[in-house]
Amino acid sequence: MSTVSLDAGPATLDRIRRHLVGLKMPRALEVLEHILRRIERGEISALEAIDSLLGEELTLREGRRVKSALKMGRLLNIKTLAGFDFSFQPSLDRDRIMALAQLDFVERHEVVHFLGQPGCGKTHLALALGVEAVKAGRSVYFATLADIVGSLAKAEREGTLRERLRFLCRPQLLIVDEIGYLPVIPGGGNLFFQLVNARYERGAMILTSNRGFSEWGDVFGGTVVATALLDRLLHHAIVVQIEGASYRLRRHAELIPETTRTRPISAPPPPPRRRGRPPKARPIDPAADP
Ligand code: ADP
Ligand code: MG
Repeated sequence: MSTVSLDAGPATLDRIRRHLVGLKMPRALEVLEHILRRIERGEISALEAIDSLLGEELTLREGRRVKSALKMGRLLNIKTLAGFDFSFQPSLDRDRIMALAQLDFVERHEVVHFLGQPGCGKTHLALALGVEAVKAGRSVYFATLADIVGSLAKAEREGTLRERLRFLCRPQLLIVDEIGYLPVIPGGGNLFFQLVNARYERGAMILTSNRGFSEWGDVFGGTVVATALLDRLLHHAIVVQIEGASYRLRRHAELIPETTRTRPISAPPPPPRRRGRPPKARPIDPAADP
């Protein structure tokens, strides 16, 4: 059996080290000795050694890429699908969520809505899908509606609205969290509409809301802008309604009135009719349809 001896080619080894430095492969350089020892001991073949060396470097790079993309996309509070207890939310179809994690909706520039009471896991699922998208090499940006509207209003004041809109159109997946907790600032509905309109059919979004679509008029400061928003946001949409109770309060359920615990938010209305193509909004939870 042919083995590689460390003594056989110190010059070659030296050159390999220099190559690894030149190629900026620090992890491969780090594990080189160890891998060569394993070849010497006959534990791995030369082919396995190459595989291991390159694999180690790639893992390091992938880790760095993901870390930096998560930071850039403001996905700072890392949540995972593996960390989501589906047994706590029986109304939620695990397979449908896992299908979303395949990210076809990102490719198709669709909008995913997570609806439900506070604490039912909307932000967790949105973040977890964001993490999956980053791992798959997609660009993602996460922000609350208040942050997005605030940043658009600031840009408008400073005469840089166009740039800000362009910035928010860049990520392949934009996650807008916490629609409905607070009404938007005056003029905020119009600004958000400009963003939604600019991304419409060009980029995917995940929205989370504790309010039914029928209440969006209150959230966005008028039914006209709310209707225009929903027109875009329900056209190519996947609506995931979570009927269950708050995970945060799971140990204190007896303290919460029954109505507050499980009250479903109003089911989504049918998507507004558009001219041309038929709408393809698909409620994900058939039980949510009356
Ligand atoms: P929402 O956005 O719907 O208000 P969150 O997603 O922020 O709720 O959930 C509240 C907290 O409970 C978070 O820490 C989240 O990770 C956790 N959580 C919610 N649902 C689940 C679940 N089914 N399994 C595990 N953790 C959950
Ligand atoms: Mg939330």
